[in-house]
Amino acid sequence: MRTLILGGTWEARQLAQRLGGRRDLAVTLSLAGRTAAPAAFSVPVRIGGFGGAEGLARYVLAEGVDALIDATHPYAAVISANSACAAQTTGVRFLALRRPPWLPIAGDRWIEVDGALAAVDALGETPRRVFLALGRKELAPFTAAPQHYYLVRSVDPVDPPLNLPRVDYIVGRGPYREADERALLSARLIELIVAKNSGSTATYGKIEAARALGLPVLMLRRPILPAVPSVETVEAVVAWLDHADLACAARGV
Ligand code: NAP
Repeated sequence: MRTLILGGTWEARQLAQRLGGRRDLAVTLSLAGRTAAPAAFSVPVRIGGFGGAEGLARYVLAEGVDALIDATHPYAAVISANSACAAQTTGVRFLALRRPPWLPIAGDRWIEVDGALAAVDALGETPRRVFLALGRKELAPFTAAPQHYYLVRSVDPVDPPLNLPRVDYIVGRGPYREADERALLSARLIELIVAKNSGSTATYGKIEAARALGLPVLMLRRPILPAVPSVETVEAVVAWLDHADLACAARGV
């Protein structure tokens, strides 16, 4: 069964690893190509956009894809909408792997905002020391608030650097442990974090660290994704694939 995983997440990587050795599946992992040196995978990888929902539908038909899995990041709203649309037009079996969001617990000081622009407004006029735990494409709005100090962490270097007077960069790929995050925030005298509610255990360390230090978190609200059949774990995707695989075999597809 030809299986296309739309990836770019830790779960997509786990899924590819789980399925890599299976003889009944021909798995391809698709990445957008945002990171310069993606991690190694145990299945064939294709890199780059498809050309919108129509392009993805064309790819699905041309490659004879039997099962399409949207395992992209919860903030990757465009590809999720495109995959839902392509699944509808092609009729390919389709499932989304959606991480549940983190929920605030006692001690969390979250302020939810609608995107990076709203986060910039919420920072206010008084200079503060801010940790930006965002993707590179979400950073530009912060140049409108140069009074703050920013600590930026990204997988690849921010190039060109932001047009800001006081900014430091860290390059890194998770997972990040709470103790290390606490040490980082304390060493840099961070007063506030701007983050996305990714729901990933790999990046939850900063949220735990913020709680321990009593720091507020400006949390960017999740985008609204299309209502499609979805599961929350890699195991559930594997079970769904096994079921679809049996159905394929029964019909001699
Ligand atoms: P996006 O805004 O939803 O998608 C923009 C375009 O990128 C899509 O229209 C598509 O181009 C291409 N694309 C996205 N994911 C792709 C994939 N897996 N394979 C092939 N093309 C893909 O996506 P994004 O927010 O920029 O995220 C890009 C990638 O980074 C995704 O794989 C996502 O899982 C990962 N990621 C995103 C975030 C985040 O916060 N957004 C965080 C961590 C990882 P075409 O229209 O040309 O097909």
